[in-house]
Amino acid sequence: MSKAIENIIWHPSPNFDERDTDTPVDMLILHYTGMKTGAEAIERLRDPDAKVSAHYVVEEDGRIFALVKEEMRAWHAGVSSWRGSQNINARSIGIEIVNPGHEFGYRAFPKVQMDAVTALAAHIVARHPIPARNVVGHSDVAPHRKEDPGELFDWQELARCGVGLWVRGKSSSHHKIAPLASNDKGSAVSDLQGALKEFGYDLPQDGHYGAELAGVICAFQRHWRPSKVDGVADEQTQEIIYALLEEVRRLT
Ligand SMILES: [Zn+2]
Repeated sequence: MSKAIENIIWHPSPNFDERDTDTPVDMLILHYTGMKTGAEAIERLRDPDAKVSAHYVVEEDGRIFALVKEEMRAWHAGVSSWRGSQNINARSIGIEIVNPGHEFGYRAFPKVQMDAVTALAAHIVARHPIPARNVVGHSDVAPHRKEDPGELFDWQELARCGVGLWVRGKSSSHHKIAPLASNDKGSAVSDLQGALKEFGYDLPQDGHYGAELAGVICAFQRHWRPSKVDGVADEQTQEIIYALLEEVRRLT
């Protein structure tokens, strides 16, 4: 077991309640703290007035703090949705990764921090029935409100270590992909919305490329095509969407 896991620091928060006994823990949600310092973030996550928390906080130096027991419900997701469920706190474990975020100076996650997150996440998915497709970012479950953990987080490395999904290469079923962007309409837009919806995102399937679809595409890109986050469903973005969908269909 990694040093980071062996040395988890118990730092309890009062911000939790009971999980429903009939809801399995089948999601892992990653966040960034989005505050100037880790200490400030931890203080807020332990402040009874703030009414927010997470199970874990991972500092930039790799220290892991446990704030809420995994068997309890922490309050990290807010209004959110994944695969038709809005009950995200009830079914998930939340990890806050210390980073000032887009508001206060978004910066690279240091390797020692990334290694700690990876070890912790692997340790969590080994002990709960969390499928790879349910390891997602806050921005995936709340695409119009949240950007965390953001495009600098190394989801590819996490997947390489066995946590979450990462695919590259063309899907077999989709022969011709035309780029789609804001204000486009029609069946190709509707197909794209249907694919994102089946994969997990909450969005209407109305065949119209409006702000809502653009926001979901941004969230998708932050996670699975981080080199360019622009809300445009270019050929590569769509290829990855359809390839991921094939992968999750294969796995279920
Ligand atoms: Zn968050």
